[in-house]
Amino acid sequence: KELVFSGVQPTGNLHLGNYLGAIKRFVEMQARSECLYCVVDLHAITLWQNPAELKSQIREVTAAFLAAGIDPKRSIVFNQSQVHQHAELAWVLNCVARLGWLNRMTQFKDKAGKDRENASVGLYDYPVLMAADILAYRATHVPVGEDQKQHLELTRDIAQKFNNDFAESIAAHGHGEGFFPITEPLIGGPAARVMSLRDGTKKMSKSDPSDNSRINLTDDADAIAQKVRKAKTDPDALPSEVAGLAGRPEADNLVGIFAALKGATREAVLAEFGGAQFSAFKGALVELAVESLAPLGAEMKRLVADPAQIDAVLADGAERAAALAAPTLDAVKDIVGFVRRG
Ligand code: ATP
Ligand code: MG
Repeated sequence: KELVFSGVQPTGNLHLGNYLGAIKRFVEMQARSECLYCVVDLHAITLWQNPAELKSQIREVTAAFLAAGIDPKRSIVFNQSQVHQHAELAWVLNCVARLGWLNRMTQFKDKAGKDRENASVGLYDYPVLMAADILAYRATHVPVGEDQKQHLELTRDIAQKFNNDFAESIAAHGHGEGFFPITEPLIGGPAARVMSLRDGTKKMSKSDPSDNSRINLTDDADAIAQKVRKAKTDPDALPSEVAGLAGRPEADNLVGIFAALKGATREAVLAEFGGAQFSAFKGALVELAVESLAPLGAEMKRLVADPAQIDAVLADGAERAAALAAPTLDAVKDIVGFVRRG
């Protein structure tokens, strides 16, 4: 059976990349699968967060999920810290994952920066917690942006090694051979990697100090228009074929964003705009972006104004998530050889 899990960190500045690479696709998955969507607050504190801001950012990500169209009755919407099984399974998986595997993770290198000795142990361990998030539900499919590909490969390696290391015990406890599924990453579409509006070689990111590098989901129409008009481009007209975007990262990015917002392909966008100057294309992009994002931002603002309602959604989601994760943790404890209460 298909089970979808994915998460977003409450680290502020939710942006167009989070929406097109993740949240918009979460909404689409609901129609055909059982889905869990998690506000991953345990991940957020791998970098220091102001406590009061963290709390409001958790509610803001939840509001973004709901505003985008995730239905909290159909899907399970919750925050990670309310379901203790995530942290608990992460410990067991820490003892399965190898140091050498984690040493290859590029996100750690990027986020730790030059002063690696001073990075938190949690930041280093982030990918193992992510594996636990997914495997606590034995999720089969994980929709994410391109930047999470390496972490999902690690999740697969951890699942495989657990299944192998404990093969006998898994069988002895009456579980099938693949106790943990080998999760399928769902990465794709024209916006799997939305780039910074100021630098077509850097991913659009919450933490970029330049607010002009990203379109925030809470930006109003004027801010969206200004940022798109200021976005870096090259002097040439748009090509009429996708091959013509090679070596033009900024052009490729804007065409990809347009395609994703429209639910079309780059080919279709270039069929319409090939030969156009950027000024004309940017005008059309502003119109499309405002049309899709302004209502989303407005709905987010409306929802965060009632934190009690958001907290009720999270509490209900946490209860349902824990009910799914608890049997996995019981089984893991049996398989590993722990003694547990009845
Ligand atoms: P942070 O800088 O705090 O890591 P982030 O923007 O990377 O923030 P995350 O919460 O780590 O956001 O990621 C949430 C989801 O958004 C993930 O599925 C991730 O792959 C996706 N995502 C993040 N940035 C982009 C982007 N530029 N393009 C497409 N998808 C993205
Ligand atoms: Mg990230």
